[in-house]
Amino acid sequence: MRVIENNTYTAPSPGVLKTSASPIEDQHGRTFNYLRLALNEKCNLRCMYCMPEEGINFRSEDKLLSIDEIFHLLELTSEMGVTKIRLTGGEPLLRKDLFPIIQYANSMDGIDSIHVTTNGLLLSKYIHDLEESGVSGLNISLDTLNPKKFKIITRRDGLDLVLNSLHKAMQSTIQSIKLNVVGMRDFNDDELMDFVRLTKENDITVRFVELMPFDSHQIWKTGKFYGADHILADIKNQVSELKPIDGSRTEHHIFRVDDYKGKVAVIPAYSRSLCGACNRIRITADGKLLNCLYSQNEINLRDAMRTGKTDMMIKDMIYGTMKKKFKDGWEAQNQGNDNRESMTQIGG
Ligand code: SAM
Ligand code: SF4
Repeated sequence: MRVIENNTYTAPSPGVLKTSASPIEDQHGRTFNYLRLALNEKCNLRCMYCMPEEGINFRSEDKLLSIDEIFHLLELTSEMGVTKIRLTGGEPLLRKDLFPIIQYANSMDGIDSIHVTTNGLLLSKYIHDLEESGVSGLNISLDTLNPKKFKIITRRDGLDLVLNSLHKAMQSTIQSIKLNVVGMRDFNDDELMDFVRLTKENDITVRFVELMPFDSHQIWKTGKFYGADHILADIKNQVSELKPIDGSRTEHHIFRVDDYKGKVAVIPAYSRSLCGACNRIRITADGKLLNCLYSQNEINLRDAMRTGKTDMMIKDMIYGTMKKKFKDGWEAQNQGNDNRESMTQIGG
């Protein structure tokens, strides 16, 4: 038994559970090797497209996955072929056991990379812990470079903190640094080139992401949606030399400007034109498995573990759920009613 930061856990050492297992596949021939795991729902910002000002009905801590349960799920999914992990939330840097979780994943055979998505507020404080825990990459979310607009969109001050974090991240040994920018009409459509210019001297990827309807419909219905095709066209209108290059599976339009060091990508998160290339498994902070970001059906892995289901049974739940994945996010969305108030209940 090992003790980490007052959390006593009894999960087996990495590798002990390993048995041969087939890859996770669905009825459309896709395979899944990328786990996106939310660590919490709470956050120190209140982005207008994500959470209401007063927050949401946050689940109590005992409803969230414990560190032992997280280790267990990391073990099971890695045995099933998961090689890449993203830790998200809520704000993952608010979770005290984030670093032991990264260290554990990093020590597992078969895990190639561990990435963290963060709003960057606390990042500069923890950058050395992240480096030492072995994180492979950071996605920092930042929608504007203007302090007044930052306060409007996040309902908090903090642009300087995030920019300082970005600076420290770029100076660190962490390999991959990406900036997530949710594109919004009449909010940051005039800042596209300011973000693109960040890639001139810095080897980072700036990713413009489409707004999605996961916010109790506060912003969604106000005409802020800015489609990937329009974002791309507006960038092309302002830059002459765009060289297409390779990106990750869901970075549809990815290119480099002239001889800039970094890359720019546009992500059709709402248009869902890349579902055919999906390789993602999602687990929410309270341990629900989702086979699609837009899925309304959740499978409760937390209770399966808490009621003593065997590893084989839990793996079967994962295989079965992923098998039934719909062709795309449009089909998934049409099955049931979405009652979630925030992206944090899905895991961004
Ligand atoms: N708090 C962390 C952060 O903001 O990076 C991690 C969780 S957050 C839910 C993950 C990502 O989801 C962020 O990049 C955020 O901008 C994005 N996001 C949240 N709500 C969204 C929405 N309605 N549409 C598009 N992206 C959204
Ligand atoms: Fe917090 Fe991230 Fe949601 Fe913004 S997008 S409120 S930072 S969880």
